[in-house]
Amino acid sequence: MGIKKISKDGFSGLIEGLIAETTVIGVQSKGDKFVYDLLGSSANLRLDYDVTILPPKKYFLQPAEILLRFDGEKYEAEFDDEEFVLVGVHPYDMIAINQIDKLYSEDNFDSHYMRRRENATVIACDVARASENVFASSMGTATVSEGFDILLTDIGDFYVAESATDKGEKLLGKAEGVSTAEDEDLKAREKIQEENKKNLNKHKLGCKPSELPGLLEKAYNHPIWEELGKKCFSCGSCNQVCPTCYCFNVQDEVNWDLKSGTRKRVWDGCLLDGFTKVAGGHEFRKSRADRIKHRIYRKGKYVPEKIGGEIACVGCGRCVGACLTDIANPVKIYNRLIEDIGIGK
Ligand code: SF4
Ligand code: SF4
Repeated sequence: MGIKKISKDGFSGLIEGLIAETTVIGVQSKGDKFVYDLLGSSANLRLDYDVTILPPKKYFLQPAEILLRFDGEKYEAEFDDEEFVLVGVHPYDMIAINQIDKLYSEDNFDSHYMRRRENATVIACDVARASENVFASSMGTATVSEGFDILLTDIGDFYVAESATDKGEKLLGKAEGVSTAEDEDLKAREKIQEENKKNLNKHKLGCKPSELPGLLEKAYNHPIWEELGKKCFSCGSCNQVCPTCYCFNVQDEVNWDLKSGTRKRVWDGCLLDGFTKVAGGHEFRKSRADRIKHRIYRKGKYVPEKIGGEIACVGCGRCVGACLTDIANPVKIYNRLIEDIGIGK
């Protein structure tokens, strides 16, 4: 595909045109925070945001959705086939979506999730402003090279616009104000990306991400899990805001006729009490310490083992800000383990 540049007016015109013909979701301000929401005007789009409260994952794996309906005789799967454009996805969130794409397209293919991914056109953008707790530079997720249809980088009066798919190419083809990206434009983009690789780092991880699985291999009986367990409220906020958490619960809702109803899935979280409760009442991770340990092991060891080594924490920092007791920061946990156990010892 290709790299071009588009004037800011041209891009606003493109967004207005899309709003007129399809569903457009974009980052908007909400008080002093930012959220993804249905976009009514290009003027409300905020590509200069720092971080959104919830990640864009919610448009692919919805917080609650109907999977199928049944009537006592038969059941029928229900799909959401609406096409939509998602604007403003930061690189770390794009990488999180790429990870869930892998997880939901291998082993047990998740047709509900994958259908929404196919129906989406994703316009990503490089980070223009670091959030309070971001540590994407430490995790190698400050820039992204795949998964999006278009990647924008704000270089002043223009965006450098990289199209990575036919969908992206077609979309840019419709826009006004598109021209060749000159050397100086490409250099300006490179400078922004190189700076983001260094500066999106409010919490500095004391090792390479690739060393985390080995570190955790030696940390299973470390006292930190009990220490954190004593402070944890089991509120599950760290799960709910995380772009890489992908667990859900399935519930049947049966109507009064006791025959028909719906099967739904809703987000679930491994920090919540009851997450591992099974028939007979046994709960595999009853203690809070075990649940916190599990979250960190999922991010730093178990999921990486499933997706080719990529760490399942993209350093968005959302859990750091969401945790009322200030214990969810993965970097603080990893750095304490590094201090106590050491890398490679
Ligand atoms: S663990 Fe925390 S910092 Fe890492 S991806 Fe999840 S919410 Fe973001
Ligand atoms: S946000 Fe903090 S208190 Fe709540 S479950 Fe997560 S670690 Fe525990």
